[in-house]
Amino acid sequence: MKRESALNLVLVSTPVGCLGSGRGGGVELTIASLTKGLLELGHQITLVAPKGSVLPSGCSGVDLREVEGVDQPSWQRRKFEGPALIPPRGVLPGLWADALDLGGKADAVINFGYDWLPIWLTKRVVPRLFHLISMGGVSEIMQDLIGEVAISAPSRFAFHTHRQAADFSLIQEPIVVGNGFDLGSYEFQSSPKGPLGWVGRVSPEKGLEDAAAVAAALDDRLLVWGVIDDPAYAKRVEESVPTGTIEWMGFFPTSVLQLQLGACRALINTPKWNEAYGNVIVEAMACGVPVVAYDRGGPGELIVSGLTGWLVPPNDLDELISATTRVDQIDRKKCRKWAEEHASLDIFASLVEQWIRSGITAEAIGKGPEEFFS
Ligand code: UDP
Repeated sequence: MKRESALNLVLVSTPVGCLGSGRGGGVELTIASLTKGLLELGHQITLVAPKGSVLPSGCSGVDLREVEGVDQPSWQRRKFEGPALIPPRGVLPGLWADALDLGGKADAVINFGYDWLPIWLTKRVVPRLFHLISMGGVSEIMQDLIGEVAISAPSRFAFHTHRQAADFSLIQEPIVVGNGFDLGSYEFQSSPKGPLGWVGRVSPEKGLEDAAAVAAALDDRLLVWGVIDDPAYAKRVEESVPTGTIEWMGFFPTSVLQLQLGACRALINTPKWNEAYGNVIVEAMACGVPVVAYDRGGPGELIVSGLTGWLVPPNDLDELISATTRVDQIDRKKCRKWAEEHASLDIFASLVEQWIRSGITAEAIGKGPEEFFS
């Protein structure tokens, strides 16, 4: 089959933190794996990112453009009805000034930041801006804008899961591309005997207190990895369970995280919000670790209850505790297999490529993306 021509793509990173800092959350890993996957498909990549960003490993062929400026505040802890904010000397406008300059010569610009400005620009500039939306409807102004722009430019948006996309008022079927992981970097570990684990930004929407309550009820320990976004919240959670229940492990690069995480007997994942995807679920499964989670948001779409872990009704602590005692019924090899079959870097990069190509073609000949994207 004839290989289609390589695309010239500009990727615009999250403005919430430089790549490698962990402040950007799961988006950082998404950018890393997608950049690598798109390079492997032969595309030409320029990455526009906040100053201090580190190129993901295996991405030396990428042209990194660093932009100075103050981090954008993240949306998670703002009021749903609140305004869009840009701090003085913010990095966001700088990222987009460079992205639009570079985008004039590119086939497409792919935005990873969950922000009002790039989405508002979509219909007002010549470069083709595509947005991989990384969160659910956490803000009214974002929900409204995405719904409004998607009416006339549906092909410019893609989502990680159907449950995430359902947060937005879309008149067309959403384009869902999942997420992808460099699975060669995750080692399968077969032992089902380790401790309980929890991974994520330590912040109220992630619901660490419920996982801590499970560990306490089982008279066990909970190993916690991740950036402490909200120290007061972390302290409250620690004080809600017997001393020593929580073991703060810190934030590590994937190579270290996966080795420690793979030694767990289960990952407990307890977000209180409509998680767009839930990287840590697939990362755990890639190491063979079953996941016990609430049947809400992305996790509800990623875990096959009874096969790769257990899904329980949202906020049902008793069920969460009971399911955690049943993780020995899960075959760890099946967890790894699920990740290989559904969330590899190759599958993800191909879906994103298909999304961009179909978007470009659809607009050139005036057809909807659903006629190309299945
Ligand atoms: N993470 C990491 N090292 C750690 C703990 C977490 O690199 O020690 C990363 C993890 O790989 C994941 C991200 O932090 O990609 C958390 O992403 P998730 O999608 O779970 O949630 P988000 O922070 O985006 O809401």
